Order: sequence, then C-alpha cells, then structure tokens
Amino acid sequence: MKYFKPTIYQKTIFDIPYKKLKKENIKLLLFDLDNTIIPFYDEIVPLKTKEKFMDLKKDFTVVIFSNSRKKRVKKIASQLDVFYLSFAKKPLPFSFKKILKEYDVRKDEIVIIGDQLFTDILGGNKFNIKTVLVEPLAIKELFITKFNRFLEKICFKKLSKKYGFEKGKYYE
Ligand SMILES: [Mg+2]
Repeated sequence: MKYFKPTIYQKTIFDIPYKKLKKENIKLLLFDLDNTIIPFYDEIVPLKTKEKFMDLKKDFTVVIFSNSRKKRVKKIASQLDVFYLSFAKKPLPFSFKKILKEYDVRKDEIVIIGDQLFTDILGGNKFNIKTVLVEPLAIKELFITKFNRFLEKICFKKLSKKYGFEKGKYYE
C-alpha cells in the first residue's frame, strides 16, 4: 500500500509548491498529460496553463510524460514548448530510466506529477522518486480509466485507514 501514497497531494497543478520542490533540489518535472494538464478530450491548452509552464521552465526542465500516443502528446507539448515522452507505459520503470539517461539527472532530482494512483503515483513511488497527486480534470473517462478509478476508490479507503491519507485532504 505504501506505493500508492503520494509525497505531495494537491487539487491542481497550480497548487503545487514548486518553490519548495526547487529548494529540495528538484531539477526536472515529469507531467502526466491527460486530466493533469488538460482534460483527456481537449487538445487546446488554456492560456493560464501556458503561462504557468512558462514560469516553470525558468526553474525546471519540464517533460510531458504520458501513456498516450505520440500524435496527441506532441501536439500538447508543442503548444507548451516543452519536451515529451509518449507511450511511457507507466507504471513500468523503462521510461523513467530513459528520462534519467536522456536528461542526465538523478532520481532525487526529478518528480512525477499526475492524477492517477495506478500509473503516475505507483510508477513514481516504485521508481523511488517524489510523486505529486492532483485531482483529475475531467470526470467522463475511458473505460480502462474508469476501471482504474474503481480500484483507486478501494485504494484510497485502505490508505486512509493506514496512513490517514484521504481524498480531498491535501498536503505538501
Ligand atoms: Mg492522467
């Protein structure tokens, strides 16, 4: 169960304590795409999000780290002018390893930010990096995600019993 507990839990990507992460010597931010940066059905990045990423790029290397296919990930990454890795197969470790090599960073210098316990958080924790959970931007989802959400609910219940980690109870 410990693999499902995020290091940080916030409502949206705008609420994450980036300054604190910078102080902790984080150099690279891995962002999940769907339902973390934009809803899974959207293709246009809102201005507010673009501005946030412009800010973040001053302090960090920013990489979109998504299980989605290249066409979609590339489209969003180009609007934000950030790096990307598509078809990442989270929670498996291969793409995480690739990131360390490609960007010449250590595990303690990167963090993964995402909305799903079973891909983003599990993958990051297993790989032994900092993890940030945010609430999903869209409710209507693909069937496979729906199934994951069902498992997440059970997971949240168990986590709250063991670690006092509850849905909507944010912490840094
Ligand atoms: Mg997602």
